[in-house]
Order: sequence, then structure tokens, then C-alpha cells
Amino acid sequence: MRGAKKILTEKRFRGIPVAHGIAHFPALVHFAEDEEVFAQTVPEHTLPAEIARFEAALIATRIELLKIQQKIASAIGSHDASIFDAHLLVVEDRTLIDEVLRSLERDHFCIEYVFQEVARRYCRTLEAIDDPYLRERVVDIEDVSRRVLRHLLGKAPQNAAAHDQPHIIIAHNFTPSDTAQLNRELVYGFVTEIGSKTSHTAIMARSLEIPAIVGMQGICQQIQIGDDILIDGYNGLLILNPSESTLAEYESLSREKEEVVERLRLIRETASTTRDGRHIVLSANIDLPDEMSDVAANGAEGVGLFRTEFLYLNRATPPNEDEQFQHYRSAAEQALPHSVIIRTLDIGGDKVASSLDIREEENPFLGCRAIRFCLENPRIFKTQLRAILRAATTNNIRVMYPMISGIEELRRANAILEECKQELSVQGIPFNPWIEVGVMIETPSAVFIADHLAREVRFFSIGTNDLIQYAIAVDRLNDRIAHLYNPTHPSILRMIKMVVESARARGIWTGVCGEMASDILLTPLLIGLGVEELSATSAAVPRVKKAVQSLDSAACVKLAAQALESDDSAEILELSRAMAMEQYGDLMD
Ligand code: PEP
Ligand code: MG
Repeated sequence: MRGAKKILTEKRFRGIPVAHGIAHFPALVHFAEDEEVFAQTVPEHTLPAEIARFEAALIATRIELLKIQQKIASAIGSHDASIFDAHLLVVEDRTLIDEVLRSLERDHFCIEYVFQEVARRYCRTLEAIDDPYLRERVVDIEDVSRRVLRHLLGKAPQNAAAHDQPHIIIAHNFTPSDTAQLNRELVYGFVTEIGSKTSHTAIMARSLEIPAIVGMQGICQQIQIGDDILIDGYNGLLILNPSESTLAEYESLSREKEEVVERLRLIRETASTTRDGRHIVLSANIDLPDEMSDVAANGAEGVGLFRTEFLYLNRATPPNEDEQFQHYRSAAEQALPHSVIIRTLDIGGDKVASSLDIREEENPFLGCRAIRFCLENPRIFKTQLRAILRAATTNNIRVMYPMISGIEELRRANAILEECKQELSVQGIPFNPWIEVGVMIETPSAVFIADHLAREVRFFSIGTNDLIQYAIAVDRLNDRIAHLYNPTHPSILRMIKMVVESARARGIWTGVCGEMASDILLTPLLIGLGVEELSATSAAVPRVKKAVQSLDSAACVKLAAQALESDDSAEILELSRAMAMEQYGDLMD
């Protein structure tokens, strides 16, 4: 039938919802990173054609990189875009290109295979040299060679314009560094084959307010670049070729959700105080300094967790003292009259910074992460502490150390902080000598020595994301055992209670900055357990505020007492859910 429109059938795929929202855009598929190309011989007379394909792939990659660079420069600034300068140099690298051409003429293998092998050899040689600059080049070469290979294999967008249009990314995996580089003007959602709810990638998607679904196995094979897809971040659904009726259904759902957001906007300036007058400090978590505008826009009382490690990602060298000072000072000024809690570098685990010399480990979450890395690398730690101390003359900055597992770590960190104060003072550089120091409670050992720690700090912030993983011995990234990752496990409740009591006995306060603080299902429990501050993802702040305002703290205390008696996590969850439904059922998804 001439001119008839092909009817495409709707198809649904399910994954784990990690960031709310609905998006309907074309797909941009990022193919699996470790695509392996096998050796195939080619006849002599086709060599010129292989060379022509190689040249075309290099040109296409160059255009692709330039387009991305321009987009990033106009969206987030030329500094971030300059990381692509090094990538561009790779496509022009004569040594690499000549070596590919020589190998092709010598071995007569297809150009994809020749290129893959030469690039790998090149990386191995650079890796063996003990020089951080050259190691950084390895990351660039790997990234660029993946792009060139995709062009050779016909798996890249046919033209770079695909990157210019709003789209939803489909990928095997997405690291926190990938997420930090997302162009927010164009990326309206992402779906990955692996991942979990409390990975930093998922946490970032929530703070960027980008709908996201993880754990959708095999999806890269099912979706083509340019396919019409809708993603439902509430229910973890990807709908390929959504029908008219599906689109209408989702339009009305979007309107409903928007209405809730509008209603919540009205309470932005109100206090987060329970019905019986207990004030719960409600602050926000930020990963990147430019999220500060969301903090006030969502009515948060400052920042309860500034994850500073994101300043170290996607760059060749770590940020120097002045650069960090500018970021911290600007965040503090924007937060006034509220405060900003700056968490010192928590690198390691799923956050890998190529700007830092981090060795690969068998169990990175149990390895040289966070405060352990900083104590091993005092130069890097001191640069950050000096920047924080200098910025803190605004009098609204606090500092906290991540992943403290013993009091020696706290004392060593504090000793380095004192050293920094001494040095600044000798140099005549203004700083705040009275900065308040707190610790994150995110290891079971810290819980059990909370009474000791409380004598030497001014506050506790419970990092439930890690506390749950370490207490229940369940990897927070592993979707296979996600059912064991349980915030209402009786042991978690007991630990929170213990920390709150140890803090109270010493007259210091306890907050929660893990994802539990953003989950309004659990607000009754946390208030009942005596938590005094909740630091949530910015986008979740209005809901949490409404939840706090709807609750009676005395009733929450009773609920927590009842929950502490229970040996069943499902029952504990149900207790909290029942109160949440009764008091603010209209907010629940
Ligand atoms: C936590 O562990 O709960 C936390 C807030 O820190 P992060 O998620 O960055 O590990
Ligand atoms: Mg943590």
C-alpha cells in the first residue's frame, strides 16, 4: 500500500524504578562497553576500502566529539567541555593512526580488529609508565576508541545530530562519572541493564530529577537508536512504540503528578515542624555545586550533605585549593541563613576518579575508600581541609568525615585539620578556627562506639545507604540481592536508636542523610526514633516537609517503640506505611 504508515506494535519492558518521572523521547542506545571484535582476514584488494572506512570513522568521531563539546560548553560551561580537548587529540594522533595502517598492511585483518588491537597495545604501554598524566591519557584513548569502533561497526548514531535532539539514554551501565557528565538540556531519562536503587548513579538521577530505570536486562539488544520510547520512572516501565491510548493515559498521570508538585510548592516557605510543634531540620543533599539553586527552590534548610567527590570526577587533575574554596564559599553564601555540611572526599566504592591515583581492589566498598583514602593521602586531604576552613569564615559551614570506623581515624583526621589551621594561621590566611566537626555513622563499628565518638564531635549524620549495606552484608550495587537490602531490618532500627541515644547523652544532634531520609514511607519511623535532621534529595524535600507537617511526633515515638519490639522487617514497614497513608496518603506513589 503506497504511502501507508507502518503501525508499530507497543511493547513493554520492566526494570527497577530508581528516579520518578515520565519521559517520552527517541532512544539513544549506548552499546555495551566491552564489545569484542574478532579477527577476520580481508583480501589485499580491499585494503584501500578498509582504509577509507577507517578515515570516515575518524572524521565521524571527530564531528561527534566536537558536537558534544559544543553542547556541554553551552549547557554547563567551557571548563567542563575542555575535557574533550584531550579526546580530540586522540583522533588526530599520528603515532596511533600510522600504527593502525602499518598493521593493516602487514596482517590483512579487518580494520575494526586492527584498530581494537593497536588501541589496546597503546593503552597497555602507557599504563605501564608510572606517570599520572599518561595514565589519564589511557582513559581518553579507551573512550575515543570505543567511539571509533562504534562508527566502524555502524553502531553509532548515523550523524552526530542524534546527540542534538532531546533523547532517553539506553545503556548497559552508567557510572556516577557518566551521570555527572549528562547534558541536562538533552537527556530526559535513562535506562540501564544493571544497577540498583542506592548506587550513586541512581541517587544522582533523583537529584537531577531525571526519570531513571535500572536492572532492565538485555534492553540494549531490544531497542534501536531513534526508537520511540516512553519511560515511567514510577513503575519501572519502558514502553516501546507507545500507542495513542498509552500516551493519553500517561498524559493524565503526568498532570496528576504535576498537580501534587504545584500543591507542595505552596508550602515551600513554611517550617518543617510536626503537628505538635517539633522542628525537624530538613536540609538537602547535593552532588554538584550547581545544584545549590534547587536547594532553596525546594524549600530546604541548607545542605545536610555536600558530596564533594563529584568535584574530582571526569578530569585529569584533582581540583586545587582555590577552586575548591570558590565552590564551598559559593555554596555557603547561597545557603545563608542556613548552613552547609561539607563531607570530605568519599572516593572509592562506585566512585572512581581518574584524577586520583586509586588502585583497583577486589572489594572496593570494603577497601581504601573515603576517610581511609584521605588519611593515606594527606596532601590531597589537606588541600580540601584548607579550602573548607577558608570558605568557612561565612560561619555557616560544618565539616564531616565519611566512613569513620574507629576513633583513631577521627583523631587522625582532626589532627590533620588542626595542622591545616596552624599553617593557615602562620600564613596569615583568614579561616574559621571554630568550624564544627561531625562524623557520618555508616559502619556498624561506628554505631557501637557512638558514645565514644560523641565526646569528640558536634553532630552525627547517619549514612543509611552504607550502614544498611555493611550491617546486613549486602552490596548496595548488586540487584541480585536487592531484596535483602532492607531499611526496616530490625537491626537498622536498633542501630539508629543507639546512635540517637549516644548523641543525646552528650548533647549533640543526630541527622540522617542516606536515602531513607527522602522516603516519606519511613518519615514516621525516623521521627519516632528521635532523629533531629533529615537531609533528603532536593526534589524530595517538599514531600518530606509535607510528611513532617502531617505527623504528630508523640504518635511517631509510640510507633517507633512498637516497631522496635518487632522481629519482622515487613511488619515494621507496614506499621510506618499505615501511619504515612493515614496522614498523607495523597502524597504516596
Ligand atoms: C550514605 O551512605 O548513606 C551516604 C549518604 O553516603 P553515600 O551515599 O554518598 O555513600
Ligand atoms: Mg556513604
